[in-house]
Amino acid sequence: MKHPKVSDCVEVFDSLWPTALAEPWDSVGLSVGDPAAEVRSILLALDPMDAVIAEAVVLGADLVFTHHPLILKPVKTVSASTLKGGAVHTLISNDIALFNAHTNADSAREGVSDALISLLDIRDAVPLAPHAPSPRTGAETLPTGIGRVGDLARPTPVRDIARTLAEKLPRTTTGVRIAGDPGATVTRVAVCGGAGDSLFDEVRASGAEVYITADLRHHPATEARDTANRGDGRPQLIDVSHWASETVWLESAARALEAEFGERGFTVALQHSAVNTDPWVERY
Ligand SMILES: [Zn+2]
Repeated sequence: MKHPKVSDCVEVFDSLWPTALAEPWDSVGLSVGDPAAEVRSILLALDPMDAVIAEAVVLGADLVFTHHPLILKPVKTVSASTLKGGAVHTLISNDIALFNAHTNADSAREGVSDALISLLDIRDAVPLAPHAPSPRTGAETLPTGIGRVGDLARPTPVRDIARTLAEKLPRTTTGVRIAGDPGATVTRVAVCGGAGDSLFDEVRASGAEVYITADLRHHPATEARDTANRGDGRPQLIDVSHWASETVWLESAARALEAEFGERGFTVALQHSAVNTDPWVERY
């Protein structure tokens, strides 16, 4: 068994979460690192925050794998005096590579929303906003796309679903919130890990009776409720922490990486970040 190079890691990541599946506006892939450098250990985290990078330095990790990109909007400088430039400097001066899989990890099978919906024992979910098959992904037999929708084994009150999520997701300050009727009984569930308020049309078209996502703001939530109330009242809404909704994916991502590196004859240590990058710390 040998250690992979950064370029080998990129191949492994791309085999699981193909770059071709990323949204056009997104920023995914290797953002810092020398493809020829050897990787003995990888630190997995949701956000490339300073505290995560500092943790990678302390642990001696050679590569940080995150969901969210470090640089989404173009920058004109990577001066260490800037927020993004400071992170780039710390990474390079400690020989640490940075790779992220974002909307490609949302879209791929066994992706971010699959991890979220599996907490409710829904295993046969399909994409909420399926990708049209493209020449590069057309060979895949299972559809890819953002969000998931599937059916519970039996009709369940929205309140019970919220409680199950509160139990199974990591504990957060903002918790799990319901908009609509907590007592409504539902079977068809739509989810979108992370901020999902752009998918209400797809949620309604899917026939979902409850929609679980994160970062629901006042206006999208109230307008979605008014739209629902003019019809049959569906979907009810469940809002969870953005960090919690996506961090559950890192577990399944680590399992997939373990298997894929092993299959290619590589040995590499995978560690989960101990840093909670949910920004909210107290509530009164
Ligand atoms: Zn996110």
